[in-house]
Amino acid sequence: MESQKLVEKSSQYLWLPFTQMKDYDENPLIIESGEGVRLRDIDGNEYLDGYSSLWLNVHGHRKEEINIAIKQQLDKIAHSTLLGAANVPSILLAEKLIDLAPNNLKRVFYSDSGATSVEIAIKMAYQYWQNKGRGKKQKFITLQNAYHGDTVGAISVGKVDIFHRVYKSLMFDSLVVPFPDPYHHPESLDPETIRDRALEELENLLKEHHEEIAGMTVESIIQGAGGMNIMPKGYLKGIEKLCRKYEVLLIVDEVATGFGRTGKMFAVEHEGVEPDIMTVAKGITAGYLPIAATLTTEEIYQAFYDDYTSLKTFFHGHSYTGNQLGCAAALANLEIFEKEQLVQQVQMKSKLIETLLEPLSEHPHVGDIRQLGMICGIELVKDKEKKIPFEWSQRIGYWTTIKMRELGMLTRPVGDTIVFMPPLVTSEKELEEMVSIMKAAIEEMT
Ligand code: PLP
Repeated sequence: MESQKLVEKSSQYLWLPFTQMKDYDENPLIIESGEGVRLRDIDGNEYLDGYSSLWLNVHGHRKEEINIAIKQQLDKIAHSTLLGAANVPSILLAEKLIDLAPNNLKRVFYSDSGATSVEIAIKMAYQYWQNKGRGKKQKFITLQNAYHGDTVGAISVGKVDIFHRVYKSLMFDSLVVPFPDPYHHPESLDPETIRDRALEELENLLKEHHEEIAGMTVESIIQGAGGMNIMPKGYLKGIEKLCRKYEVLLIVDEVATGFGRTGKMFAVEHEGVEPDIMTVAKGITAGYLPIAATLTTEEIYQAFYDDYTSLKTFFHGHSYTGNQLGCAAALANLEIFEKEQLVQQVQMKSKLIETLLEPLSEHPHVGDIRQLGMICGIELVKDKEKKIPFEWSQRIGYWTTIKMRELGMLTRPVGDTIVFMPPLVTSEKELEEMVSIMKAAIEEMT
């Protein structure tokens, strides 16, 4: 079909997620194919994939081993339900995940998106306390600016005002503590002081309310959609200690950070944290198929294990839970991680990225560059000295990424922070190309 027709049809029939369709209609884009770190649209224009197609495609596109694994699985079976019956790749993948995850995590509950993995974590924590006869523990603590996905449970522990405000009366209430964010902190304090104050505030809340609190949700080390904000060292460990002290389940969301992105297989490893529940998605199938998982401890699993009539069963499941094609893709993906020593590669490449981004810090409108492994956020500000943001109506972040598209690279901003999360396999030359496009776009738009 000719490309103009497809554009018209896309505007006529589609409603894209997290997209103001008026923006899309003014700047439509239809991707048709991809190879390595490049995507191609229906007119043959090529774009570097500067956001790993929303933080998923760790190996870029059309990774042969994963293609083969999916085709082989297709020749056996595509799907059988996991409700009451296991399937082979789901077992093998669960074993692999448990092998890679922090030591205390022993059980895998599948779903199909980051948000559902969080939804499950919340319900699991909630029911755990019911099953243990401590049904008063029903509430959750979350952090300012947290983002955990878009289902109702996940937005109830989400605190990005512009995304979540509108749904307020639809959500359950959660208790909120400030995120220790050195760059945006109103007083210019050192990160350790900000961290210690934040932990103090959390402890005060726990002292008062722990009897009613089931769990605390937290993104692992870095908040993604809330602005690419990195916690000071020791903060996550501090949360873990307080959660243990006050008998609150620690739910760590590794949806964005899991699978090598930060230079460790899971970001909790930076602090030696062992969550009671950990959610993973995105990188698990390297962008091939929608698989997610909620990992938990034997202790939590056992609280649900009883005769059916006790009604302790975890009454949760999705039609596509543990889909065989998805699990086969994930297994092939994790084999490549080992074969290509991808986590070690990230550690090396993140140093190169740091060097490449360094000159941008001199730019008068680059307020801050935040980086953890191959997750980077470049915050654009109107006044660097006073940290004053651009007018909201200017949408600097959005227009800068549209300019980047014109120059041959795709990404999406979070507010006025440009997200740079290239595939983990991006070569040195491709990284240089990507950063130079970012620089040119920032130069032109600010
Ligand atoms: N949790 C975190 C930390 C995320 O960054 C995201 C998505 O960006 C989600 C959950 C939701 O994942 P999904 O979009 O797969 O539902």
